Parts: sequence; C-alpha cells; structure tokens
Amino acid sequence: MPDRTASVPLASIPGIGPQRAELLTKLGLHTHDDLLHFVPRRYEDRRHLKPVSEAQDGQAITVRGKVHAAKPGRWGACKLDVTIGPASLTSSQHLVHARWFGFRPWGIKEGCDIFVYGRISRDKKGRWTMSNPEYEIAHDDAESFIHIDRIAPIYNLTDGLTQRVLRRLMFEATQKTPFTAPEFYPAPEKMISRQEAFRVIHFPDSFSDENRARQRLAYDEFFVLQCVVALRRLSRATAHRRRADRADDLHQRWLASLPFPLTNAQRRVMAEIDADLSHGPPMNRLLQGDVGAGKTFVAVHAMLRAVEAGEQAALMAPTQILAEQHALNLRRWLEPLDIRVDVFTGHTRGKKADRLQGGELDLFNTRPKAKSLGSVVIGTHALLYDRYAANQLGLIVIDEQHKFGVLQRLALSRKGQNPDILVMTATPIPRTLGMTLYGDLDVSVLDEMPPGRQPIVTKCRSVKELDKFWAFLLKQIGEGRQAYVIYPLVEESEKVDAKSVKVEFERLKKLLPQVRLGLLHGQLDPAEKDRVMTALRAREIDVLLATSVIEVGVDVPNATVMLIENAERFGLAQLHQLRGRIGRGEHPSYCVLVGEPRSLEGWRRLKIMEETTDGFRIAEEDFKIRGPGNIFGTEQSGLPPLHFASLESDYDLLAQARNHAAQIIRQDPTLAPWPGLREKMQSGGNAVSLVAVS
Ligand code: ADP
Ligand code: MG
Repeated sequence: MPDRTASVPLASIPGIGPQRAELLTKLGLHTHDDLLHFVPRRYEDRRHLKPVSEAQDGQAITVRGKVHAAKPGRWGACKLDVTIGPASLTSSQHLVHARWFGFRPWGIKEGCDIFVYGRISRDKKGRWTMSNPEYEIAHDDAESFIHIDRIAPIYNLTDGLTQRVLRRLMFEATQKTPFTAPEFYPAPEKMISRQEAFRVIHFPDSFSDENRARQRLAYDEFFVLQCVVALRRLSRATAHRRRADRADDLHQRWLASLPFPLTNAQRRVMAEIDADLSHGPPMNRLLQGDVGAGKTFVAVHAMLRAVEAGEQAALMAPTQILAEQHALNLRRWLEPLDIRVDVFTGHTRGKKADRLQGGELDLFNTRPKAKSLGSVVIGTHALLYDRYAANQLGLIVIDEQHKFGVLQRLALSRKGQNPDILVMTATPIPRTLGMTLYGDLDVSVLDEMPPGRQPIVTKCRSVKELDKFWAFLLKQIGEGRQAYVIYPLVEESEKVDAKSVKVEFERLKKLLPQVRLGLLHGQLDPAEKDRVMTALRAREIDVLLATSVIEVGVDVPNATVMLIENAERFGLAQLHQLRGRIGRGEHPSYCVLVGEPRSLEGWRRLKIMEETTDGFRIAEEDFKIRGPGNIFGTEQSGLPPLHFASLESDYDLLAQARNHAAQIIRQDPTLAPWPGLREKMQSGGNAVSLVAVS
C-alpha cells in the first residue's frame, strides 16, 4: 500500500494558502509527506526553563522573559538592544541583554513576552548578554498550547516565515490532519509504529518519546539502504564467472624480482585475493591501507593472477599523473615478464581510440602481439567510458576509490563478463559509511607499513615563520633531498584570499635563485605534467610547487619535505593524503602546515595533524567535523539524503538494520511480500535507484 500522504498537496492543509505554500517550497517542502519528514532542527523544553542565574558562561540556553526596554543601539539603527528578564524580577542577576546586530528583529516591543535562544556570556560589566539570539514572541491566545509549556520543536526557517507560524502549520499537518504512514516491512516488535513516530517526532511529550520516534524513522532509512546493499551483494554473489585454469609462474617470477620482501600484511591480502579468484562468483573486494602501506604491489599481484588465467586486467587511477606513474612502475616490473603495459588516459585516448576496433585491446599494441604473454591496461576514468576497453576485462583494480564514488564502481562491475573488482583506498572509511557505501564488498586491510619507514615530523606554523622554513629547506636540499610546496589555488583570485601556485612560483624563483623549482597543477597540458614528474623523479627538480593534483598516489621516496600553505583550506583527510607523499623512503621527513585558521576549531583541526599520522583517527575527526557528504561528496557517493538517521552517531541502529535486511533478503529476494519496501527502495535516492532490483 503506497503512502497516501506522498502526493497530498500542501494547499489542502488548513492554514496553508498559496503564499505560504510558496514559502514552504523554498524549504524544499512540496507535499504533506515532505512536512512529515521535515525534522525539527532542535527542541526547546519550555516546561522547564533554567533560570539565567544557573547558566554557565558560553552555554546555549533558552530564556523566557518580559522585555524591559527595547532600544536601537548606539552604533546605528540596525543594532537593537533588548533587556529581558522574568517579569517579577528586576535584579540584574536575572536580566539578559540580548543584542541584534545588522538587522532589526521584527515585532519586539517593550512589555513583550519572548523566548530567546543563544549562547550566553558575561560582558565586561558582568551582565549576561546574548548576541543575535533566535527569538520568538509568546502570545497568550488560543493556540499558545502549541508553542508554550511544552517541548517545542524548532525548525529551519526561510525569510517571511516565523517559527511560530511554521510550528502551527506543522502542528496542523502532523497532529490534526489525518494521514497514514503504513508499515512497509516487518519492523522490529519493540519499535513504535511509523505513524506514531511521525506524530511524536514533531511534538513529543518527552525526550524519551522523541528519541524512540527518531530511532524508528532512522531505522527505516537504514533498513531501506541496507536492503539495497544486501541485494547488490546477492547479485554479485550469484553472478556467473567463468574461471579458466591458471598458470602459476608469472607472479612467482615477479615476486622473485622485487628488491625487498613483502610485508606480512601484503602477503595476507594477496592470499585473500587468491582465494576470491579461485572460486565461482566474481571478486568484489575493498582494500584499505593507509598512504604508503604498499597497495600497488597488491594490485600488481591481482593483475598478474588475471593474466595467468589468460584474461586482461586494468588498473584505474583518478589522475593522469598517478596513471602515468603506475605505468612507469608496471612497465619496469612486467615487461621483463613479457607482459605488455598500455596506458589509456584522457590525453592518450584520442590517439588510441582511433586505432581501437572490434573490441580488441591488443590494437593499442606498439610491440608485436605474438611476443606478449598478456597485457594490462592502466588508465584514468577515460577507461571506464570506453566501451571497447572495459568490456574485455577480467579484472579491474580501482586505485584511490574514494576519488571515484560508488556510481562509477557499479558502472564498472556491470562491464564485460562480471569482472573481478578490487578497489583500493587510503582514505579510511568510517565504519558506518563503510557498511553503507561499501557494504556489498569484502574488506581487506593492509595494517602494516613496510619496514624502515621514518616517522614524519609535522608542525603547524604561522606565516611569520616562513623564513625559518626556507632556511631549513635549503639545508635539506643541500643534503640531496627534494621537497613539495603545496598551494590551494592555481591562479590568484579576487574572491579567495589564499596563495596561488603560479604567483608563488614567480616569487620563489627570485627568493631562492639557487633552487631548481618545478611547477605542477591541473591546468597544465598532459605532456607538460608528464615532463615535470619525470624531472622530479630524475632529481632535476629540487622543489616542486604544486596544487593538490599530487594528492593521491605520487611516489617519490627521495622527497622528504612538504610545506602546505593556507593549510586551513584543505580538509583533514586531504592533508593526510598530501602528507603521505613524503615519509616514503629511508630519510626522516618533515611536514610544515602554514595557515591562519580563523577559529579555535580551525586550529584544533590542524593540531590533530601534529598529533597523529594515524589515518583512521584523522578520518574519524574529519568525519565528525565535516560530515560524510563533504568527505565523500554525497551526490557522487550515491548516498541518498538521510532525514532522521545519522551516520555519525547511529552505529548500533545501522548494524541492527543491516542484519535485519540481510535476513529479509534471504527470506525472499524478490521482496514480493513487501511491495511497499520495493517501492521505497526504488524511490529513495540515487543509491537506491542504482540497484537493478531484479
Ligand atoms: P600506497 O599504499 O600508498 O599506494 P605504494 O604502493 O605507493 O603505497 O608504496 C609506497 C612505497 O613503499 C613505494 O615506494 C613502494 O615501492 C614501497 N614498498 C611497498 N611495499 C614494500 C615492502 N614490502 N617493502 C619495502 N618497501 C615497500
Ligand atoms: Mg597508491
């Protein structure tokens, strides 16, 4: 049974005329169902307001009182200074000076009964003050029971809509207008009904009720997502994969040629991959390993296994620079084994695509075909969009998966004859997100660094200390080391107050004439990028000035110094990735973060980089600060919006929903007994619509 509320237009709700309907549209609310899903941003317990005298400096509180005086402030008419306190009390102990700067709050007059909410602090004279608090005028009228003496929901607003008006509309929509929110799957018994949950979440009688309602609705969201994940997993697990007998010699010979032994972790993960490749369904594996853990070797191992079975393998990298670097290494390792290595990036594509015909990758060949034992292809996502290339593949390795997103991974897994897929990422994925975005993958972890690595010393410094840094840099160069200096911008910008790599390149040429500088950014043409990277590897460049184009994968072990300017403009996970470009060799490495964060929070963030090189900790912090959408790009990640559930704090709920979903899918993968569930899965956003629910 479909939700009947889904299509009920707003105008049919009492109190919503065309004008208000339009305002609500600005909040993204078009139907009654949208209103139900419009979760309060917070609640105010207006039954038990704390007296101001009990407040602590800096705390956010709600105060109710009578306006003693309302007057425009001294610095122009825009500033309003309001003194409020409980009507019966006038001692300054209980007064609050609420101030609004830059705009005049509407409707506040002497004698008004108002609520104000904001951070309270003591000013120099010892008075309690609040700056730009949220406010709401209390009226003693027939509808006051909706707003006063209860736990009042506080919603996001838009211009022209007051909290009070919106709350009344929400009351109308959720408590008075009849609606149905049918159960669409057998929810856990102890949970409250969906219908009840929608009612309660807007106007709860207690916070425990509110919590139960939220849990129920969050569970529904997780459950739908996890059904998607379970179905995806099932469809891969039951996919047919033809497996040929494989020879065993190539990877043995390759291992023997390596200058150092594998780490135990590398060996373990390779064995996990071998196990995947030795039986029926296609491999579907995620390899997590911090920057520098040695994922490339694992990738090569997997690719060699494919070649041994007579299949073609591809390695997909997010940038041309990284693809070329991989090509360089793989040629060095694989050509002695008579395996051809082709590169297929945006810039090589035009030339080579012309030569592609009839779905034969071999046509890229520049060497006689007869000689090679097999071939591997390395490319950027250009590879993905080439119908000849990708359809021939038996195995696909996606390096730095977080740069691609789930959509592309799924697109790839549909290519060809159910290819084996290995996705690799250095960005640790917080576990809730892992269970959601990557829940259909088996996971391997490279939790051991190759031996002999030196720790990276990281320091946060102010711009004033740059001179000291240059002196240090010269000393390191004198000892034969190389360095990166990273800037947020390619070109100077009027809009953004940050340094640009082009301007600094010219400036540093003069400041450090004795140093051989290189310049690298995304706007250079591919041949130039190539030339710069080659020069860097050949040690013809001492200091490479770059944007974040070098963020992923670049591996030049002799580079041991990194300076990141305007560090506050980069995300933590990104800083960690950038820093991962050093500390790759036998020499000690140094990373200096120069920035001027505007807030304490900003400093705290950078300090985390000083404290730890543990990618998992950094990712969790980043996740807490910026939320999943910003790190993984919610849209490209394919995660639908979550109204009630939180990936930050609902781990247990998610785990429960996952088990439950797996059980339901096992019971009946067609979902025939629960048509509502099927409908929800198909309508719930991109992640969901992506699944071929067969
Ligand atoms: P990432 O996991 O970041 O992709 P790479 O595969 O680029 O790491 O490896 C980082 C560096 O460590 C490379 O220079 C690589 O040659 C080296 N390396 C990888 N495995 C080992 C090992 N077992 N012993 C020593 N060095 C290794
Ligand atoms: Mg790598």
